[in-house]
Amino acid sequence: MLKRIYDGLVTSAGAGVCFNTRLCGVEMAGPDRIEAVIVADKAGLRACRAKVYVDGTGDGDLAAWAGAAFEKGDAHGQLQPATHCFVLTNVDPYACWYTPRIPPPARAPRNPHRACTSSIRKAPCTRRWRRAAIP
Ligand SMILES: Cc1cc2nc3c(=O)[nH]c(=O)nc-3n(C[C@H](O)[C@H](O)[C@H](O)COP(=O)(O)OP(=O)(O)OC[C@H]3O[C@@H](n4cnc5c(N)ncnc54)[C@H](O)[C@@H]3O)c2cc1C
Repeated sequence: MLKRIYDGLVTSAGAGVCFNTRLCGVEMAGPDRIEAVIVADKAGLRACRAKVYVDGTGDGDLAAWAGAAFEKGDAHGQLQPATHCFVLTNVDPYACWYTPRIPPPARAPRNPHRACTSSIRKAPCTRRWRRAAIP
């Protein structure tokens, strides 16, 4: 639904949308003037000319390809790591809970999922594995 609203905002402002079109090059008319951008779509390559070019590539590809100055990372070139998103599936909390390396609880947990997670955090074998895995 939101994408339709966005498309409507763009077209009602008088702009056209080129779906499935990738910016893949830039032609320069001089050291600081873009002649055209080269895009690729299902029909092949074509050049698009405009008075003003707005770079929305996220990484500033158009600006960089056009020779604009840019900075990347901190003084050592280090970048902020992207958020690590993952989904953990096929976990058997009962098998995890009763594995011999993790001592069983004094009494059975009401919520095995929660109890399993907290036990893993405390388990010494997990810490050893972390140290071994990270060089
Ligand atoms: C894993 C992750 C988690 C994040 N979490 C957060 C958060 O919680 N909060 C927050 O504020 N920010 C977060 N960010 C940062 C946020 O997503 C970005 O700062 C924001 O999306 C940048 O917007 P943008 O429009 O400049 O670029 P983007 O959203 O990256 O959009 C760029 C678009 O240009 C397209 N594109 C790129 N190159 C080309 C090309 N050559 N030709 C055609 N199209 C091209 C891409 O496909 C994309 O659709 C996160 C980023 C990542 C990677």
